[in-house]
Amino acid sequence: MITRSHNTVFFGGAGVSTESGLKDYRSEDGLYNTVKKYKVSPETILSHSFFVAYPDVFYDFYYNYFLSSSAEPNSAHFALAKLEKEGKLNAVITQNIDGLHQRAGSKNVLELHGTIYRHYCPRCKKEMSFESVRSLCGGVPRCEKCGSVVRPDVVLYEEQLDERVIEAAVDAISSAELLIIGGTSLAVYPAAGFLHYFQGSNIVLINRGETQFDNKASLVFRDKIGDVLSKTVELIS
Ligand SMILES: [Zn+2]
Repeated sequence: MITRSHNTVFFGGAGVSTESGLKDYRSEDGLYNTVKKYKVSPETILSHSFFVAYPDVFYDFYYNYFLSSSAEPNSAHFALAKLEKEGKLNAVITQNIDGLHQRAGSKNVLELHGTIYRHYCPRCKKEMSFESVRSLCGGVPRCEKCGSVVRPDVVLYEEQLDERVIEAAVDAISSAELLIIGGTSLAVYPAAGFLHYFQGSNIVLINRGETQFDNKASLVFRDKIGDVLSKTVELIS
């Protein structure tokens, strides 16, 4: 399918990064079921209103689970980067904020939920470097120009996705011939909604568990996404 397709797009979720050792959100040993230190759920901590009210708790959590991570790209990230380089993949659309696709070499990456690699002042828009924020080890970063609390360029709960990113993702999906979906149960908005734009010929699903879209797929893998993608790339390169 990849060899025949003139326009292939990959759509990925947290499962792409779990093979790098990052916890996903909702599975049994995911973030939401294992983080008990903060008395409130990670979902609450990662909400807009909580960030505004308790930036100190937010940054403690954010540092421990995102910024201090030593996760490296895995074979899934590298396989996708190789496909793009060989002209066989047009875009990666990801729900992850860990920047691992770019670190593996992917260029056209649409980050629906933003990235931990960018931080800015909500008041005067001045950016703060990833290294500066990380060097505070969970302390609250403040804008050097106006003193406001700096925020990560990630979409928090209660916030809207970036319209330009949504548009680009819809464009990519609606013009794709082949859509490879990996590491997402497709249970959470907006993932499922995007698939309705697909008008191409084949959907391939790679996910450990069942999804509501299994019956729409031409091919379903229940295996590790890193294994599936790296073996596929080996076969066609
Ligand atoms: Zn500022």
